Amino acid sequence: MIRLKAEDEIRKIRKAAKIVFETLQMVGENVRPGVKLGDLDEMAEKFILSKGAIPGFKGLYGFPGTLCLSPNDMVVHGIPNGHVLQEGDILSVDCGAIVDGYYGDAARTFPVGEIDDEIRKLLEVTQTSLEKGIAECQPGNHLYDIGHAIQTYCESFGYGVVRELVGHGIGTKLHEDPQVPNYGVQGTGPILKTGLCLAIEPMINAGVKDVYTAKDGWAVHTQDGKPSAHFENTVAITENGPVVLSQGGETIFD
Ligand code: MG
Ligand code: MG
Repeated sequence: MIRLKAEDEIRKIRKAAKIVFETLQMVGENVRPGVKLGDLDEMAEKFILSKGAIPGFKGLYGFPGTLCLSPNDMVVHGIPNGHVLQEGDILSVDCGAIVDGYYGDAARTFPVGEIDDEIRKLLEVTQTSLEKGIAECQPGNHLYDIGHAIQTYCESFGYGVVRELVGHGIGTKLHEDPQVPNYGVQGTGPILKTGLCLAIEPMINAGVKDVYTAKDGWAVHTQDGKPSAHFENTVAITENGPVVLSQGGETIFD
């Protein structure tokens, strides 16, 4: 069941999402060759707690980390561990936080030092596809207009759009209805309404769209071993269109 949010609820989601944004910024500044994933996770947890928020992922469904840290061919859900980043890697960082019982959720893929031009292109295209998906968040549009915009843009570069993992509604639960696929047919799906809050999160592979889950039951990898990028924002749909809640600066919900 899709639950639309009142303005005071969106203000709480905004508080959580802003802290997620700031956490990702802080983590991004610390992504460099030689850094251990577990250390990034520890920094993020301390940072979120210092802001008076609660890490949103830790313990949820049994996940052990504050961040999902997914390098290179790992798409999402990487457990922070002793892995040390190397020059030329990419690292997808997914973060959630809770404020007053409401979640924020966002992700970025960061380069580790200098990266190949081909991989840089994958990051740019994935980030742009997120913006194109968000631009579809207009009241009166259809839900699958979002995925359609993401899919057509990314596939025009020959990239693979992951099917098994999707975006989602967000509120008092991290994952609420509706599911928000990164693919779809334009003009189909539920009508988007003011008050709907969504986490939109293209997961885009340099090669094939197919993925598999590792033996730890968490980490999702590309089937062909090629890199994957993940950008996510928490967005509120208003009568004037989308407002990105997981950003810095001021929004109408501050
Ligand atoms: Mg996320
Ligand atoms: Mg999400």
